[in-house]
Amino acid sequence: MADPADADAAFETLGSEPRLRVLRALVDDDGRPTRRSFSELFEATAVDTTAGFAYHLRQLTDRYVRKVDEAYELTDAGRRVARAVAAGTYTESVDSDPVALDDDCPFCGDAALAATVADNVTTVACDACGRAVLELPFPPSGHDTHGDDLPRAFDVHHRHRIAEFSAGVCPECGGAVEAETEAAGDPGPAVATFTCAACGARLRCPVTLTTLSHPAVVAFYHDHACDVRDRPLWNVGDEWRERVVSEDPWCVRVATRLDGEELALFVARDATVVEHRRADVRDRAEGADAEGTDETGVEGSDASAVEDDAGSASA
Ligand SMILES: [Zn+2]
Ligand SMILES: [Zn+2]
Repeated sequence: MADPADADAAFETLGSEPRLRVLRALVDDDGRPTRRSFSELFEATAVDTTAGFAYHLRQLTDRYVRKVDEAYELTDAGRRVARAVAAGTYTESVDSDPVALDDDCPFCGDAALAATVADNVTTVACDACGRAVLELPFPPSGHDTHGDDLPRAFDVHHRHRIAEFSAGVCPECGGAVEAETEAAGDPGPAVATFTCAACGARLRCPVTLTTLSHPAVVAFYHDHACDVRDRPLWNVGDEWRERVVSEDPWCVRVATRLDGEELALFVARDATVVEHRRADVRDRAEGADAEGTDETGVEGSDASAVEDDAGSASA
């Protein structure tokens, strides 16, 4: 993990408008990194003398900029800073009035969901029952560039973040992720919490949402001529059910039904799917499990898999 003293020096180097102009000038109009000569960079800044400009360029060189032949280009760190500056990551704060969404509230079923933005954090809440469905950040550049397509972009952004966290890779920094599932009320849904061991990025969401990118789920929807991406994260559809079926070993059963068929996934403490099954449920009542009462879902060989995973996650 980075030493704060090193980070302090790295950020101090950036505390100057001419230097940020240099980083910006090393990206072309299409946003691609490019090489520029000393004189081209000098013209791109508002520094009076070449001596003064040379001083600023020296401060950036090696960490953010490198010299290649007779020109300069961005290092990886320089590209990241240039992107963050262009995206307004450190400078923009977006607020917006509520925008009505097309989807029904997953709690009360009313068509009364609206998305509101305060300081780059989007809240989806229901005007009818007053409940907040989700509250997630969205980068300022995302607010600026999508227009009416913003709800879909927001959904795609977070769907991929959840998929990356679920696969054990931090979407912020690429670091290793620790995951844990727990009950959220009794009775109630189960939630998964992901924490990056490197940068501390954290995400908490219903366990159901962590399964949406699983091949068994994608295939199940595809086989029923549906696309699991058609429903947004704030209402994935009333065909989904989720409950804790075993405390020891810990197991959450997440199930979805389409056209009389059920797909059930069994999720361990560390948020991995340890097993999935498909079953014909045409004769069963809504809400009844496809498995018989003599089979609680995690007995036998599955149980050890759940226990092993839970043990390693808490170690
Ligand atoms: Zn509602
Ligand atoms: Zn991270």
